[in-house]
Amino acid sequence: MHSRTLALVFASFAVTACKTHIDSAPPGERAYLLERVDDVAIVQVYADGFERLEPRERALCWHLYQAAVAGRTIYMQQRCAEALDILALGEELLTHSAGIERATLEEVRRYMKLFWVNHSPYNNITARKNLLRCTPSALVDAAERAQHNGAQLPLHIDETPRALVARLAPMLFDPEHKPMVTAKNPVGALDIVQASAATFYGPGVNLRRLEQLSERYELNSNVVLDAQGQLAELPWRAGSPAEGIAPGLYARELEGVIAHLEAALPLATEAMRKALEAQIRFYRTGERADREAYDIAWVADTASPVDTVNSFVEVYVDPRGKKGAWEGIVDYEDPVKATLIKTIADNAQWFEDHMPYAPEFRKPQVRGISARSIDVIVETGDAGPVSAIGINLPNDARVRELHGSKSVSLANIVEASERATPAGARREFCWDDAEAQRAERWQALTSDMLTNMHEVIGHASGRQAQGFAGEPADSIGENYSALEEARADLVALYFMADPKLAELGLLSDPQAAALAAYEHYVRNGGLQQLRRVRHGDQLEEDHMRNRQLVVHWIEAHAPAALERARRDDKTFLRVRDVAAFRAACGELLGLVQRIKSTGDGAAAKELLERHGVKFEAALRDEVVARYERYDVPSYIGYVFPRLEPITDASGRVVDARLGYPASLEAQMLEWSGRLTP
Ligand SMILES: [Zn+2]
Repeated sequence: MHSRTLALVFASFAVTACKTHIDSAPPGERAYLLERVDDVAIVQVYADGFERLEPRERALCWHLYQAAVAGRTIYMQQRCAEALDILALGEELLTHSAGIERATLEEVRRYMKLFWVNHSPYNNITARKNLLRCTPSALVDAAERAQHNGAQLPLHIDETPRALVARLAPMLFDPEHKPMVTAKNPVGALDIVQASAATFYGPGVNLRRLEQLSERYELNSNVVLDAQGQLAELPWRAGSPAEGIAPGLYARELEGVIAHLEAALPLATEAMRKALEAQIRFYRTGERADREAYDIAWVADTASPVDTVNSFVEVYVDPRGKKGAWEGIVDYEDPVKATLIKTIADNAQWFEDHMPYAPEFRKPQVRGISARSIDVIVETGDAGPVSAIGINLPNDARVRELHGSKSVSLANIVEASERATPAGARREFCWDDAEAQRAERWQALTSDMLTNMHEVIGHASGRQAQGFAGEPADSIGENYSALEEARADLVALYFMADPKLAELGLLSDPQAAALAAYEHYVRNGGLQQLRRVRHGDQLEEDHMRNRQLVVHWIEAHAPAALERARRDDKTFLRVRDVAAFRAACGELLGLVQRIKSTGDGAAAKELLERHGVKFEAALRDEVVARYERYDVPSYIGYVFPRLEPITDASGRVVDARLGYPASLEAQMLEWSGRLTP
């Protein structure tokens, strides 16, 4: 199961698309990187295409957004038994802070930022616990002061602030107490279930006993010991009293989610309405068959401009890999972007007829492959603030086989992560200011164009030689995948500089855009990607091999197109001439297409081994050292747009307006109702 592509580090060469901007409207000076908190970067996501949706669709988004926010505390509780109390304590301190000692308050603020990003004290990437770095007595003082200021502390009956802090102290301050949320390789006597802080299994439950249990609610239940000491399931469901289905765990939260989903129904398309109804049904019953029905209805909805995921989905947090972490996502397909992709697809035959390879390898009738890239408005629970850059769901293998899956790239997330890369790191591999400025000006658009052409006309193009039987993948073997990716990249690179793109209204200045696109490609494929391979002198990953193949082949065969330059002991790759570079791409594409069309495994092997696999270890060391000078964070927490409802005279939500909160803190306090925007 690999349903998501995680952007653990800034991945300017992610295997995915970038946000479309109409190329006359570059993103300008707005802030992407909002702040750094320890090793996490807090980055603003923008959803520009939202304004281009219909009012009804925007109102729909508002309801779905509320549903996504309503469920987020479920995920906190899944990660940590004390999460809700820590959330309430921290947020009440921050909103009733008058007179709290400054150093204590700032430390609570730092701790809470990490908590919000990770929905718990546990780091999303390492699974290890973050600690509050003040003394328990300083926290008691702060809590007493906040209570004096009117804070609603999460006190048990008759509990004092001091007793509250004592109760939470092991989780907040003690590094030895439940150190990991998910412990897949625990040391010592505890098994993976006992050693993990995730709350799916109650006290006394261990792995050995679980092996005897066949769970009815495998994805959506806690397993606990009942009064007789027997294993029992607590299903996560809202219940349906009329049918005799009792409310289960998280019933209160799920009722909140359901109310917003029901409000969304009248605004949804027919296909989406079916999916939402199925999901509401699943939330009520918790039954596997209802979850399957939802998966099937959700997969069937491929055309609605707005989409949502709101369910128990990924199983990574559970050490057994069974229990679904709750997540909420609301996204839309940017209409301008959809038009761009459609324009390329509608002209697929023109591109095919102009492929720079032998006519017998061109398809007489080609259809563009449909591709989708979305912008997210909000991601909650397991889906955000730490976000994937691509999503492929559902996870249920049976549903995938029979009904298919939806695969999308999260365009505005990718763009935000690129834009938030430290400026120094972004321009380190540019030869001069002009190149750096071209990258700023064009990169979002050209990455987008390249990705779309790669998917829509790249993989779709070409045919096998007359008389060739079987599959090219079989005759080409282990080099096929890298070769095919190179072929799709080369189609995109070749047409990137074609005047046809201007004629189709896709680019105002193809020559300038193509230069920026070529420069970006060679910086990445020839230099930057090497920082990911810390050991050895060989690339293993197919996309990395294909990019290096393209760059090294052009460097070796077309000195008028690309040259290697050194300055101050640093290596640069300089695109010398757009036309020469384009011609070189066309020549290599001709070669690659011939290899594929004829299934020439020996030639594929020779090409890859000569240019795609080996790299110079000294160059890698140089690239790594150049990166290390910049403080590149290890992961990103995103701040999402804010939606404000627009209502009619009767109070019905008829439209929504997009805004941006000032900070992560503001967004989180707004979501928990402790701050009014
Ligand atoms: Zn591809």
